Amino acid sequence: MNKKTQSEWLEKLPLLQSVVEQKEVLWCNPSVEWVAAGLLKTHLSKVDIVDASDRLERFAPYLAKAFPDTDKGVIESPLTPIPKMKRELETAYAIQIPGKLLLKQDNALPISGSIKARGGIYEVLKHAETLAINSQLLDSTKDYSQFDTPVFRELFAKHKIAVGSTGNLGLSIGIMSAKLGFHVTVHMSADAKQWKKDLLRSKGVHVVEYIDDYSKAVEEGRRQAEADPSCHFVDDENSIDLFMGYAVAGERVAAQLKEQNIIVDEAHPLFVYLPCGVGGGPGGVAFGLKLALGDHVHCLFAEPTHSPCMMIGMMTGMHDQVSVADFGLDNKTAADGLAVGTASAFVGKTMEPFLTGCYTVEDQTLFTLLKKLADSEDIWLEPSALAGMIGPVQVIQSKLPSADFKNTTHLVWGTGGNMVPADEMKRYYNHTGK
Ligand SMILES: *Cc1c(COP(=O)(O)O)cnc(C)c1O
Repeated sequence: MNKKTQSEWLEKLPLLQSVVEQKEVLWCNPSVEWVAAGLLKTHLSKVDIVDASDRLERFAPYLAKAFPDTDKGVIESPLTPIPKMKRELETAYAIQIPGKLLLKQDNALPISGSIKARGGIYEVLKHAETLAINSQLLDSTKDYSQFDTPVFRELFAKHKIAVGSTGNLGLSIGIMSAKLGFHVTVHMSADAKQWKKDLLRSKGVHVVEYIDDYSKAVEEGRRQAEADPSCHFVDDENSIDLFMGYAVAGERVAAQLKEQNIIVDEAHPLFVYLPCGVGGGPGGVAFGLKLALGDHVHCLFAEPTHSPCMMIGMMTGMHDQVSVADFGLDNKTAADGLAVGTASAFVGKTMEPFLTGCYTVEDQTLFTLLKKLADSEDIWLEPSALAGMIGPVQVIQSKLPSADFKNTTHLVWGTGGNMVPADEMKRYYNHTGK
């Protein structure tokens, strides 16, 4: 496909004008289909999710031992009703949200306090399992707590893991890999927070810093890793393992909804709002949700007005062949996990039949919502994780079908927060700096 100029795109897709002007916009995906039809367009399926889920179950005895803060080795977070926050939103935006409002608290995930504790940790575990099998070290008569023994650590010490990250993926990969005994390097972009670098270094992780943005850190990390056959590079843009680690969330949420007697069907639709950076986290979770809950779960990605890479990629159908810079956007946002200029083409293409839409949110809105959530519910999220919170307002104001049913459930994915140091969180709350 030929590369169009900005003005050619604006003529074809008028909504892009508002994107260029950095307005908060909602884009509805015209390619969304029934789940059954969508599945014919991807080689990924339920079998892959079950495989990932089974693997996490095998590793539970190890995780329980290595990370006692997990729930018997299961890395999962609460699904919390937030009625006070719902009233805050209704008052602030002068609207009615007739349905329920729930928060998926991935801010409280054990081990690394963000959504990356799903995909990131899963990929490291899968790699460790493969190495153990190939080295004939795995004793099938014992459970996986055997991974927490010196022979396994000696094996992993001969292997390397590398990742490029704006922060939270680096934390997950770094903490998990170091615990297993790998040599691990995290390539970090300029916008990564100092405390994340310090924390990783304190765990023996090798941190390399770049003055460029996220894509550059990933590119450089990939290049160095490719030159070394003993190094496994965690590829945030293309990894199916990461994606599947996230996708396991679908069946887990389905079970949590059932426990809370929340039905999902035509008369009881579920809207889910997922902060999106490169796309793997929200994409994997949305894919898992669609497979677990079917046609009446409607997933939307939320991006900063300065970094709407997935929206632009999917709207134009150009995926990783366009960047936010092509539309004059600077990719500068306080939502550091979301400061991504080019989306994953793998995720964008996979999500084409499954995603209801994308919307953008201003940084100032993130801080306003952060404070409201802390004040009303005493739940503390990092700025990126608030991108989902405006979702119910967006879909109701935009009059999306079934968004304002009294039986609609709105689920905001709170992607991170618990690892943020208290003084940093206080600055977010007062919004006196970045
Ligand atoms: C990584 C991250 C996201 C987005 O995930 P991607 O896979 O990059 O799209 C959202 N919120 C937080 C807090 C994150 O760390």
